[in-house]
Amino acid sequence: MDERITALRERIDELNLELLSRLSERATIAEAIGRVQTELGLSHYDPVREQAMLETLVAANRGPFTDAAVKSLFKQVFQASMQLEQEQDKSRYLTSRRTHRSDTVVSVDGVPIGGDHSPVLIAGPCAIESREQLGAVAAFLASRGVRLLRGGAFKPRTDPYSFQGLGLEGLRLGRDACDAHGLAFVTEVMDAADVPACAEHADVLQVGARNMHNFTLLRKVAQSGRPVILKRGLAATIEEWVMAAEYLLSGGNTEVILCERGIRTFERFTRNTLDVSAVALVKLETHLPVLVDVTHSGGRPDLLVPLTKAGLAAGADGVMIEVHPNPAVALSDNKQQIDFEAFDAYLEATMYHELLSPGRTELYGA
Ligand code: PEP
Ligand code: MN
Repeated sequence: MDERITALRERIDELNLELLSRLSERATIAEAIGRVQTELGLSHYDPVREQAMLETLVAANRGPFTDAAVKSLFKQVFQASMQLEQEQDKSRYLTSRRTHRSDTVVSVDGVPIGGDHSPVLIAGPCAIESREQLGAVAAFLASRGVRLLRGGAFKPRTDPYSFQGLGLEGLRLGRDACDAHGLAFVTEVMDAADVPACAEHADVLQVGARNMHNFTLLRKVAQSGRPVILKRGLAATIEEWVMAAEYLLSGGNTEVILCERGIRTFERFTRNTLDVSAVALVKLETHLPVLVDVTHSGGRPDLLVPLTKAGLAAGADGVMIEVHPNPAVALSDNKQQIDFEAFDAYLEATMYHELLSPGRTELYGA
C-alpha cells in the first residue's frame, strides 16, 4: 500500500470516530427534546424545523459536497434521530417487552400462568345455571386435575330476552362450588358497578370481548386487586387489544392475562377466526401471559383439539374451554359446549391428560 494512502486513511479513521462522537452527542440532545415533546404531547416530526436546518446547512456549505449531497446526508441523520425518539415513546408502555423484558407470570391460587410454566387449562360452563349444574362440573373437572373453573354469572347476550345469567346468586354458587372442590373461580364482570362483588367472590375477573373497549370498566377492574383475563374484542386490532391491557397495567394491575377468542372475519363455517398470528405476536411484543379460548373462536366441538394444538404451538400459555354436564339443554352456547365424555376425549387428544396432575379421582371414588 502506498504510504500516502495509508496516512490519509488514518486521518479518515480519526475523523470517522470524531463524527460518531459528535453524532452521538447530537442524538442525546435529540432524545432530550423528544422527552419534552412527549411530555407536552407534541409530535416528534417537525417539518418546518427540518427545512430550516437544511437551509442553514446548505447556506454554510463550502464544498466539496454538493448541496444535494449535504441535504441527503443530514436527512439520514434527522431520520435516525426521529426513530430514536419514537422508540423512546414505545418504551413508556407498561405492556411492552421493551419496558419489561422477562415474561410476566400470573399466579392464581398457586397455579402459575405464563413464562416457562406448563400450559394451564381453564374449563367450565358458559353460564352458571344452578347449584346442581355447577357442582357437577366442578366435581368432574377437579377429578381430572383442572385447577381453574370458569363460569359466567353475568352473561353478555346478543338477544336481550335470552338468559342473562344468575348475577349475584351465580357468583355465590361459583364461590361455593370452587371452595368445595379446591378450584379457583374465573368469572366475567360486565359492569363497573359489579366489580366489587365479582372481586369478592372470584379469584380472577374476566373482561369479555364485548367490553374490551369499555375503558371505565377497565379502570375499575385495574383497581380490583384480582388478576384479570382480558379477552380480545370481536373486531379489535392487536394494538387496540394491547392498549386495553395498558389501561389495566397503568391503572395499577400487573396481573393481566390476554385471551385470544377469535375475531370476526367473512368466514361462516366457524363462529370466529382464531387469530393464531395474534397469539405469537403478543407473546413477542408484550410480556403478558396469553390464552386461547378454543370454544368461542371456532364455535365447533370438532375444532377444539386442532385449535388447542395451534394455539399452544403459537406460544399460548393456556387454553379456555367450555364444559357442561348436558350441553343440549345449556341456557347459553349449547352448540359449543362439550359434555364430560367429550372432555375426557379432548384431554386424551391434547397434551393435557399428561399435564394435569392425576390423583383427583374422588368423583369416581365416591
Ligand atoms: C365467555 O367466555 O363467557 C364469553 C362471553 O366470551 P367472549 O367475551 O370471548 O365472547
Ligand atoms: Mn360461552
